[in-house]
Amino acid sequence: MIVVIKSNASPEKQEQLISWLKGMGLGIHLSVGEFQTVLGLIGDTSKVDMDLLESLDIVDSVKRVSETFKCCNRKFHPDDTVVNVGDVKIGGGNFVMIAGPCSVESEEQIVGIAKAVKAAGADLLRGGAFKPRTSPYDFQGLKGEGIELLKTARKETGLPIVTEIMNLKDLPLFEDIDVLQVGARNMQNFDLLKELGTLHKPVLLKRGLANTLKELLMSAEYIMASGNEQVILCERGIRTYSDYLRNTLDLAAVPMLHELSHLPVIVDPSHATGIARMVPPMSLAAAACGADGLIIEVHNDPSHALCDGAQSLTPAVFGELAEKVRSVRAAAM
Ligand code: PEP
Ligand code: MN
Repeated sequence: MIVVIKSNASPEKQEQLISWLKGMGLGIHLSVGEFQTVLGLIGDTSKVDMDLLESLDIVDSVKRVSETFKCCNRKFHPDDTVVNVGDVKIGGGNFVMIAGPCSVESEEQIVGIAKAVKAAGADLLRGGAFKPRTSPYDFQGLKGEGIELLKTARKETGLPIVTEIMNLKDLPLFEDIDVLQVGARNMQNFDLLKELGTLHKPVLLKRGLANTLKELLMSAEYIMASGNEQVILCERGIRTYSDYLRNTLDLAAVPMLHELSHLPVIVDPSHATGIARMVPPMSLAAAACGADGLIIEVHNDPSHALCDGAQSLTPAVFGELAEKVRSVRAAAM
C-alpha cells in the first residue's frame, strides 16, 4: 500500500502518521521526492482502514500495490534511484561505462587494461577474481590474489572496481571493493542476497540465465528488504533458442524495468552475445533504449584471454565504441 502525503504536510504530522503505522507492525519505506513524499507500507496491510487514512488532512491519496516487490517498486519511490560509487553516479540520467577483462590474470594485464579503458572514458573497472565457470577444469580465477590486483589497478588509475562475489565465505575479501557483482548464476542465491542487503555497498545484480523480470525484481527485493537500497540491475541476455549467439539480449527489459522500478538498469552486451563484433551494435542499441550504463569486457590480447576472449573488445575498439555511445545517448535523451 502507498500513502501519498500532501506537499504542505508538516514534518510533525508526518512523524505522527509514521509512528502510528509502525505501531500496527508495518514497515515504512519513505521516499522524499522533489514533488511528492510517498510512504510505502510493507507487511500485512489487510487490516489498514484505507478510508480512515484517506480522510487524514495530510494524506493526498492511498493506493494498494498489488505487486509482491515493494522496496524496488517505482510506485513506492517515484524518482529514479541514483547509486553513488565514489564520485561516479549511476541512474537518474547519469550514464556509466564499466569496462575490463572477464577475469583478472596478472598485474600487468589488469593495470594495463585499467589504464587503457580509463583513457577511453570508462568510469569503473570490471574484472573477475572468482569465476563461475561451466567446467570445473577451466580457469577459476586468481581469487584473493585477483582482488589484490584489482586494488592495485584502482590505485594506479583511480577507477572504482566491480567484481563478482560467488560465496558468502569470501565476503571479508570484498571489504574494500566498490561494487559487488552478483552473477547470473547466483541471482537466486537468497542467502547471499540477504547478506549483501546488510552491507552499505552498491550491488550489481545480474539477471539469471532463465529468469523473468519479476524474479529479477524479487531478487533485488531480497537485498533491499535487508536494508541496502543501492542496487543496480543488469540485463545480460537470457537463454532462448538463439543458436549463433551466446544468449538473447532482451533489450525491451530496459524500458520495462524502468517502468516497474526506480533502480538503475545497465546492459552487458558481452555475455549477451558472446561475440566481440556484436558488442558495438548492441551497446548502441542499449544506449538508445535508455540503459543507465554498459558493462563491457575488454582485453589487451583477446586471443590469449583465460576466459571469454571471443567476446572481448580490444581497448582501441572500446575507445571508438565509447565515443559512439556518447553520441547515441545525447541523441536519445
Ligand atoms: C561476468 O560478468 O563475469 C559474468 C560471469 O557474467 P554473468 O554472471 O552474467 O554470466
Ligand atoms: Mn566473462
